[in-house]
Amino acid sequence: MIAMDESNISFFKDGCRLDGRKADQLRPLKIEVGVLARADGSCYIEMGGNKVIAAVYGPREVHPRHLQEVTRAIVRYRYNMASFSVEERKRPGPDRRSYELSKVSREALEPVILTSYFPRSVIDVFVEVLQADAGTRTAGINAASVALADAGIPMKSLISSCAAGKVADTIVLDPMKEEDNFGQADLPVAMTPNGDITLLQMDGGLSPAELHEAVEMAMNGCRQIYELQRKSLVDKYSQLESLSQVPEQEAEACD
Ligand code: UDP
Repeated sequence: MIAMDESNISFFKDGCRLDGRKADQLRPLKIEVGVLARADGSCYIEMGGNKVIAAVYGPREVHPRHLQEVTRAIVRYRYNMASFSVEERKRPGPDRRSYELSKVSREALEPVILTSYFPRSVIDVFVEVLQADAGTRTAGINAASVALADAGIPMKSLISSCAAGKVADTIVLDPMKEEDNFGQADLPVAMTPNGDITLLQMDGGLSPAELHEAVEMAMNGCRQIYELQRKSLVDKYSQLESLSQVPEQEAEACD
């Protein structure tokens, strides 16, 4: 969050936000499953101006071997922002921010992954941010969760994630870049469909009442995102089902 006087920025016009949304509205969301041929599972997501791709590999052998756990699979998560994803070119390679985001995102997903099914192995999750517009960690978690399911990794549930923020003393859902950079607070949340929270961070300041409102709003956003995650998986696998039912004669004609 940039420390800047936000008093000269008008975040609302006629009761709507800069991009025309209401305070409690998500940005447009698009989810595509199985977009990478060489990954075990993958997902492409657009959350407003964010464009993020997730690839999952594994469970597979751990290298280096000393990282092996005898009772469970380890999960590795690498968040990476492309240098062209932001207005001011980002220096390529890992930095403090990407280490933090990789860690919290892994911790957001790990509780639902049944790692004990795959001792001595690793599940690798790669998240590449192609275009950033605030909320990239939440978009990455949403994509990674769907990509894990697409890879057939046994999980207790999906994880859905979005942030709430505070701008001009108003709590808003899913802040875009201007709201994130010049707003008063940002609160990313991730949760299971049952409402168990696996990520809760806060940047900026909120009163106890505002915190309560922001968490409720973010959880509500997560519920909406979950429906789309679920639908994108169901759509992909029901398409495969109908393809596998193509009559033999038709299938031969394509050879
Ligand atoms: N950002 C940027 N350059 C950077 C890091 C971030 O322009 O090196 C922008 C980008 O749009 C990002 C936003 O600032 O989405 C908010 O970043 P933050 O660290 O709060 O993480 P995010 O909200 O993306 O999870």
